[in-house]
Amino acid sequence: MSKSTIKVALIGNPNVGKTSVFNQLTGLNQQVGNYPGITVEKKQGASKLSDNVKAKIIDLPGTYSLNASSIDENVVIELLLNKKDEDFPDVAVVVTEVENLKRNLLLFTQIKDLEIPTILVINMADRMSLKGIEFDLPILERELKTKIALVSSRKKTGISELKSLILNYESLSTEPCLNASVIDPDYFNNLRRAFPNQLLYKLWLVITQDVNFLNLERNEIKNSFTKSHSDLKRLQQKETIKRYQFINDTLKIGQKIDASKATDLRAKLDRVLTHKVFGYLIFFGILMLIFQSIFDWSKIPMDFIDETFTSLSAYTKNHLPAGEFTNLLSEGIIPGISGIVIFIPQIAFLFLFISILEESGYMSRVVFLMDKIMRRFGLSGKSIVPLISGTACAIPAIMSARNIENWKERLITILVTPFTTCSARLPVYAILISLIIPEERVFGFLSLQGLTLMLLYLIGFGMAVLSATLLNYFLKLNCKSYFVIEMPSYKVPMFKNVALNVIEKTKAFVTGAGKIILALSIILWFLGSHGPTNNFKNADAIVLQELELSQNIASIEPELIENKISSYKLEHSYIGILGKAIEPAIRPLGYDWKIGIAVVSSFAAREVFVGTLATIYNVGNHSDEEVTIKNRMAAEINPVTGEKIFNFASGISLLLFYAFAMQCMSTIAIVKKETNSWKWPLIQFVFMSGFAYLTALIAYQILK
Ligand code: GDP
Repeated sequence: MSKSTIKVALIGNPNVGKTSVFNQLTGLNQQVGNYPGITVEKKQGASKLSDNVKAKIIDLPGTYSLNASSIDENVVIELLLNKKDEDFPDVAVVVTEVENLKRNLLLFTQIKDLEIPTILVINMADRMSLKGIEFDLPILERELKTKIALVSSRKKTGISELKSLILNYESLSTEPCLNASVIDPDYFNNLRRAFPNQLLYKLWLVITQDVNFLNLERNEIKNSFTKSHSDLKRLQQKETIKRYQFINDTLKIGQKIDASKATDLRAKLDRVLTHKVFGYLIFFGILMLIFQSIFDWSKIPMDFIDETFTSLSAYTKNHLPAGEFTNLLSEGIIPGISGIVIFIPQIAFLFLFISILEESGYMSRVVFLMDKIMRRFGLSGKSIVPLISGTACAIPAIMSARNIENWKERLITILVTPFTTCSARLPVYAILISLIIPEERVFGFLSLQGLTLMLLYLIGFGMAVLSATLLNYFLKLNCKSYFVIEMPSYKVPMFKNVALNVIEKTKAFVTGAGKIILALSIILWFLGSHGPTNNFKNADAIVLQELELSQNIASIEPELIENKISSYKLEHSYIGILGKAIEPAIRPLGYDWKIGIAVVSSFAAREVFVGTLATIYNVGNHSDEEVTIKNRMAAEINPVTGEKIFNFASGISLLLFYAFAMQCMSTIAIVKKETNSWKWPLIQFVFMSGFAYLTALIAYQILK
């Protein structure tokens, strides 16, 4: 009986165009989630095969073989070994590509030996004539005991043939390619005798891999058949050799390559793009261009979003009946949603550029270029992208760490990326620098203020590298890593791949981190607009009374009165009380309770600092805000010592605090999402903020 839904597992080496085939099969019918308990992304989609049959397609992580070396690869093995898994496929589709067929087939023969019905896709058929490659498909099908779909996901050819092969999967042969006992007859024959009802190759995988496979059974198998580690390795190598012998024999009769027809543009480009000097120059040129565009292009939509939400919030406040609910909406929920939506342009543009670089094949050259340098710090060549995109915003940057295969390197990258100076620190730096660093020029032309700003960027990057080194030393994670640098050929990016990638990443951010940002904004709103005491509740009356006592109230601008009331309220709100409560802890850093409130509310997002101080210092919006708040800050005097509050010592202390502290709940949310646990964001939060406190303390105590 035929099924109405056929479960398909899409498997293949990285860079063979598996995602493109998946996109062609499923279009927008995709869902992205995580495998339970781990961070590996789980992508699945639906594809209509005929009027009443559809395929549920699971896009498994790219893997070179079934000899797992990363959690991504474990996912593949675990699924294929566990028949009871609800996703266990009816049919496996192994994607390969014309140029690297030999290497790609290694994985294919392993999957075949698990005796699952298997279809072979040879993708990138459009490159065959360019590379002078021809296939004898009937011979290949006979030798590999499979059906082949010759596909070009770029030219959209062969997809319907693939669909009809999936539809008729029941007619596929499940005969293995390699008889496992040829690897070592004695060992394997014993194994077969001990477990006559089990598949030999499956037993072998259970013995060699650390996969979660029905624990009892696994221990039993392992106990009686474990060999020394080196013996197992030797057998694995033997297996690989046997497989390649088989593949070579097959391709000798089924494939023809006429190298004289191939072009060598690729070699020429590679020579320039991975050159010791030009390679870096070109890379940094491209980066400059990208960041300029991200800033320039996102500014317009970001301003638009900002204005729209501000007016929406004002509209709500003015048109809905006054009360708690209206306040929650206009001061909590709407700004909260705006705090999510405002990141969308940056995320979308960054991923637009990253996917173009990836799709074109250029990214692999950059990774190759950077790998040696980054590896010294426990990072991967691929960490360069997150570290640099962190200058715009840590959120898309941390998301872009996903394509680092090695979990330890990826984790380190995620943990250190927030040290890079993001754009939210910029307004804080700008105002503090203008307060404490004189407007002087060094050597007659270099602005001292500009140099300070650059220094802060360098400190951030240096700190990222330094903590990576420390983490590399202390993190004891067992991640087997043999890094294979993949050098795919250059290609014009496929629009569909780029577009789907941008949509998927943006969606992941909005639905993942977005929820947490919204929830935290509402909590912060509540804490800032509610207070436990009568002082808070009767703020209006108290302030008016105080003012009346001191001067003629009619002579004071109404706006100033409003501001006085809201600053009084803030002082007696929960956040205000918190600010005062932490005063003893922050006084040694040179801050008073008002700065304390700004620092505390900055833990929601750094850019709140200036705004909060503006509210506290009673600054109205009627004049040029930047100048006014700056003047107000410059004029703040410590009532006890008579000194300026924002002096060189406290300013430097604040700058260092903002450089190092983890003050961004969106980042915490995204780290939680990407690492799938609260452990890492908490460690990151404590370490970064603790370090920030310490350096700020030392700086102030030395400089004061
Ligand atoms: P994955 O790593 O296996 O998921 O591969 P992707 O789907 O991301 O594709 C890797 C690269 O191959 C991208 O640059 C694609 O544009 C390109 N690509 C995918 N399919 C084809 C194809 O049929 N022909 C050509 N010429 N390029 C392709």
